[in-house]
Amino acid sequence: MTNAPLTLPSLTDAWTTWTCERATSELARAEALVEGLRTAPPTDAVAVLRQWDRACGHLGNAAAIGSLLGNVHPSEEVRRLADSAEQDAHRVATRWSLDRALYDVFAGLDEEQVAGDPAASRLLEKVRADFRRSGVDQDDASRERISAVRERITELDQEFSRVIRDDVRTIRVAPEQLAGLPQDWLAEHPADEDGLVTVTTDYPDAVPVRMFAHDRDVRRDIAIASNERGWPQTEPLLTELFALRHELATLVGYCDWPSYDADVKMVGKGSNIPEFIDKIAEAAEVPMRRDLDQLLARYRRDFPDAEAVPGYDYNYYAELVRSEAYDVDSQRVRSYFDFARVREGLLEVTGRLFGLRYDRVDVPTWHEDVSVYDVFAADTAGDPADGGTGGLPAGRLGRIYLDLHPRSGKYKHAAQFTLTDGVAGEQLPEGVLVCNFSRGLMEHDHVVTLFHEFGHLLHHVLAGHGDWYRFAGVATEWDFVEAPSQMLEEWAWHADVLRLFAVDASGEPIPAELVAAMRAADDYGKGIYARTQMFYAAMSYWFHADRVLVDRGEAAPDLTERMIELQGRYGALPYLEGTHMFASFGHLGGYSSGYYTYMWSLVIAKDMFAAFDPDGAGDLLAPSVLEVARRYRDAVLVPGGSADAADLVANFLGRPFSFDTYAAWLAR
Ligand SMILES: [Zn+2]
Repeated sequence: MTNAPLTLPSLTDAWTTWTCERATSELARAEALVEGLRTAPPTDAVAVLRQWDRACGHLGNAAAIGSLLGNVHPSEEVRRLADSAEQDAHRVATRWSLDRALYDVFAGLDEEQVAGDPAASRLLEKVRADFRRSGVDQDDASRERISAVRERITELDQEFSRVIRDDVRTIRVAPEQLAGLPQDWLAEHPADEDGLVTVTTDYPDAVPVRMFAHDRDVRRDIAIASNERGWPQTEPLLTELFALRHELATLVGYCDWPSYDADVKMVGKGSNIPEFIDKIAEAAEVPMRRDLDQLLARYRRDFPDAEAVPGYDYNYYAELVRSEAYDVDSQRVRSYFDFARVREGLLEVTGRLFGLRYDRVDVPTWHEDVSVYDVFAADTAGDPADGGTGGLPAGRLGRIYLDLHPRSGKYKHAAQFTLTDGVAGEQLPEGVLVCNFSRGLMEHDHVVTLFHEFGHLLHHVLAGHGDWYRFAGVATEWDFVEAPSQMLEEWAWHADVLRLFAVDASGEPIPAELVAAMRAADDYGKGIYARTQMFYAAMSYWFHADRVLVDRGEAAPDLTERMIELQGRYGALPYLEGTHMFASFGHLGGYSSGYYTYMWSLVIAKDMFAAFDPDGAGDLLAPSVLEVARRYRDAVLVPGGSADAADLVANFLGRPFSFDTYAAWLAR
């Protein structure tokens, strides 16, 4: 069978060799295919495209193993090897993208030969555009410079991630200063021989402290420590990164980096980004005021003279507003979310929704915490003889790895990583969820995050059965990619769904009234949230767009000053004096100028979700909802990147997506 899952090493010692071999052999296969294209390309255009696509698939495998293991492997040596494998893969990609002889192969292809094959036509168009964006048609000196710039960008990006990944800060506090924190959290944080408790800036430590600690100094200190991660080391890295991205964009004919970046996204043009940011900021103005008034009123009961609520007190007081105004006690909520049950519940819910079955498999992984499942279309019972179901093939659809608890040296956030991209009959899609959840009781927020990230994983698996690596998995426009995940979050907010797995220690399922209150409480703060997101989006856009000033002989603004200014214009909460939050804003790496994409996707997610439950009846596992879910699965998820996202969404909705559902939700 050609599309069997990968076999990972079973012995700890074997990982070093395996990682090297996997990366090296995939790179070699990729290079051999490309060498063939360069020297003796097939005469048939589709065959040329196929050979190129397979080469990219092998290169993708090398990059994926590098990226994954560099972020999750417990051995520092393997992480280092993996980082360097990822760099090698990027280097090869850069070299190919600037290879004139290779470009000429595609430039010379006869479009007539692919005219009858829409996917191949689309691929040819994309490949040509990719090459032009890479600057392959520039003169030799420019191409050399582009190559050096891209290599340095990759290094800077990795260095930026590494610094903020490794820069864990700590505060030490007296045990009595932690009053307000949940019992299980306190039990996991005993005092040391000096009688002090160490609290780190890792999420499982810092988030509950900011939310629950009664002691204001502790909240302030952990907020400052969290905001200061990466400072000052990352500022020169970021400054160089923004300058080089700008240079790269202008070398290939764009006016700035955001324009270059937006060209392959739904947003289309760089200048549409600040327009979108302003549109959201305006729609969020009244909801934000409403949220802030409510927050300040509560805050003044404790601090009568306060003019505003400081950022470090936001989580704590927002929590108080929620628990007092909406009668939601997070600690009570937590008691219903036992990690192991939540994980099972997630599989049950998404299984029903999308017609899938997950079979636990006992195979080697990089760490004992990782659980592995094979994914099947439920109604074929894994038997190929039953034939396919809907848009899905029969048999094993993919393999997923859930790596959900924190450990030292591991990626600090929550994300889906690729192990392999899927192509029908050739390679099984395999993906990995990397998160940092506690082992016992979970915050409901984390449950929502789990649903969200799992949405990416499903997209990766379901879209892994086409004919082309280029369109496999989440290979859709980057400003659409969050929409399926944001929409899946809705299922973590409904009683009929939650009661399947959210039960307390005595076996009582979570009461519907509590879930309703949780939703009302969650709605509190959405104006503040939208404005905070627009502050981040503005930072991500303007840090890059400001480089145009340097072209004109002016100085680019100081990053800290620019951040403070944008926080003043878009943010909801005041700047925390003396801090440098941008220094650990990891999305400046991966998302570059495109942080707006979160909100762009959310606008679409809200619009799509309205199709599932048009009457707001609320039973998100009702037969009518499941029917819509299958249609959505086949129309939006399964096609991956084989069509423009705007078209996939329009196919599902029966009309183009609109801003109105989101704006109405925000104003509610
Ligand atoms: Zn996401």
